Amino acid sequence: MAEKRDYYEVLGVEKNADDSAIKKAYRQLAKKYHPDANPGDETAATKFREASEAYAVLSDPDKRKAYDTYGHAAFDANSAAGASSGFGGFDFSGMDMSDIFSEFFGGGFSGGGFSGGRTYGRRANMPEKGDNIRVGIRISFDEAIKGVKKNIKIRYKETCKTCNGSGAKPGTEKTTCPRCNGAGQVRMTQQSLFGMIQQVTTCPECHGTGSVIKEKCPDCKGAGYINTEKTMEISIPAGIDDGQAIRRSGGGDPGRNGGPRGDLLVEVSVSDHPFFKRQGINIYSTEAISFPKAALGGTTIVKTVDGPVELKIAAGTQSETRTRLRGKGVPSLQNPNVRGDHYVTLVVETPKKLNKKQKEALKAYAESCGETVEA
Ligand SMILES: [Zn+2]
Ligand SMILES: [Zn+2]
Repeated sequence: MAEKRDYYEVLGVEKNADDSAIKKAYRQLAKKYHPDANPGDETAATKFREASEAYAVLSDPDKRKAYDTYGHAAFDANSAAGASSGFGGFDFSGMDMSDIFSEFFGGGFSGGGFSGGRTYGRRANMPEKGDNIRVGIRISFDEAIKGVKKNIKIRYKETCKTCNGSGAKPGTEKTTCPRCNGAGQVRMTQQSLFGMIQQVTTCPECHGTGSVIKEKCPDCKGAGYINTEKTMEISIPAGIDDGQAIRRSGGGDPGRNGGPRGDLLVEVSVSDHPFFKRQGINIYSTEAISFPKAALGGTTIVKTVDGPVELKIAAGTQSETRTRLRGKGVPSLQNPNVRGDHYVTLVVETPKKLNKKQKEALKAYAESCGETVEA
């Protein structure tokens, strides 16, 4: 694959361009290279996709920041930067170009002009982003903290190689849909309670594409894609929390009419830990210490996600005292240089079984305090 072009270069804007300059540049390019304006022009379609991708990143402050820091690696889940930055598509809002397209077409592509009639369907040959694929994965508490690579099986659609996604048998051509004459929409007049209603709906013959296949491709039966299954390695960044998702842009089903592929969304569930609790980037645990240690001071070994750590106990420590172990928590997804803390709550344990010698020692202690105890 050729080296990816710099997004600023693609849009022809300066690195410090503001949002409106970026939007303006994209609108100009999108109008120029839009597949509707350049039917069958593969170069224009590529330029259109390239500009759309650049716009999707640079128009989003978070993505732009990640791109400025890591370059294209910010959006590659397999790269170190992509994984550690928490990007790799993490939590992206997606490439939703509908707002900008509605500006171009003014909503006119839904038909319009028919009072009383609702309009349905989409404009024929409008580039559409493919469907997103969602998969769930369960990882352990420790894997969420350290980060992990997982192989997951994904069922997705792949553009049919035999017909290049057209759905037509190689050597045959698509023809203009006879029902809608290529418009992708038909007007239907229906009798209703309120009289005759005229509706514009997606053409049932061509499903809005404006063309029909004379002879279907034998491999995909005219669908233009085949269902396939692939095992993919997904890098789950350190610090991911239960319920968060990793988005791999372009990892979904193929787009229609030159539109970009959908995204792959890996929804992560994190199992509970028997000992640690997590809240955001901090970890909490409870450790028992003996009464003499609490009273006299000393050290105790506590568990952390990095392994055992020796903790100093000050003389006179009360039960439920909380101690902070700085930097022993969860790495921040937003900033890999930041790690949360681990809070240990020390609970003073009352001995349950005492031998004779211990009883006498405690009795002597109580008496020295001026206390009478049963023995
Ligand atoms: Zn095919
Ligand atoms: Zn039609």
